[in-house]
Amino acid sequence: MRMKWIWLAALFGLSLSLSCQRKEQSRDPGAAQRLKIVTTVAPITSIVENVAGDKAGVSGIIPEGVNSHTFEPAPSDSRLLSGAQLMILNGLDLETPTLKLAQANLPQGASIYSLGEKTITEAEYIYDFSFPKEQGHPNPHLWLNPAYAMRYATLVRDELIRLDPKNKSAYEQNTAQFVKKLETLDQATKDAIQTIPANNRRLLTYHDSWPYFVRRYGFQVIGAVQPSDFADPSPKEVIRLIEQIRKEKVPAVFGSEVFPSPVLEQIAREGKSRYIDKLRDDELPGKPGDPQHSYIGMMIENMTIMFEALGGSAEALKKVDPTPVAGSHADYRRKN
Ligand SMILES: [Zn+2]
Repeated sequence: MRMKWIWLAALFGLSLSLSCQRKEQSRDPGAAQRLKIVTTVAPITSIVENVAGDKAGVSGIIPEGVNSHTFEPAPSDSRLLSGAQLMILNGLDLETPTLKLAQANLPQGASIYSLGEKTITEAEYIYDFSFPKEQGHPNPHLWLNPAYAMRYATLVRDELIRLDPKNKSAYEQNTAQFVKKLETLDQATKDAIQTIPANNRRLLTYHDSWPYFVRRYGFQVIGAVQPSDFADPSPKEVIRLIEQIRKEKVPAVFGSEVFPSPVLEQIAREGKSRYIDKLRDDELPGKPGDPQHSYIGMMIENMTIMFEALGGSAEALKKVDPTPVAGSHADYRRKN
């Protein structure tokens, strides 16, 4: 009788410890051994999250909703950097202060991987009103072109495999699935653009994020209002833009969530055009964990707003699933 109780107690103890172990594993599968990656703006974090799934830790430093072009990381971000093995950034001079902090604080042997310079050649860089050639900083918004986002994803995949070969097959699978989704997005964009009257396929924006998008889809950027120092445009420039909008009968002009612009609003009013201030180039819609809180979700939202305002339909984009291919695992920061 007594033996039986001892056995039962032992079995109970064993199953208790097994179930504790299981809980521990499901909460954090091998967190200590996982590759730790620091990223910068949210669309890049989302692309890396799609490739990494739960096999690597991914933390974005630049909060959603700030001006990423002038963002200065806090000295306390050095702690996050000092525990990372890899930093992935857009490059093309977008995140210079964050890059400097990374260079000073990443541990020895850690890598810095800049995507933009590996995606297009210098001859393909775009310089324009907000990013003039004489200042030497090309327009960095490559990710708004889904073909470049595909390239970003495959570059990230190869770098993750190089540093963490044991998860090679997961990185390959995730990337293949993600690129397939991006191809669907690309085709849906082409289909949706066909519904916009040809004469309306023109963009006037406040923040100058769209030239690489336009390069792919045959739109025309008729202007970006924001000067290179992120101040307001000169009165002369404002008058020129109003006249252009009136003459060309542009149906809508676009501001962005991050840069509220009374000046663009005035330009739209006087040019008798609609003013829409909802575009985003590095702030994802919804909140972390929502299906639309992703790079693809951001593109769908932008294009829906744009295409409908220009007299087209965004119906084709509804079939694109924005959810990250291997779930939401990255740490995103939000502007407080
Ligand atoms: Zn931007």
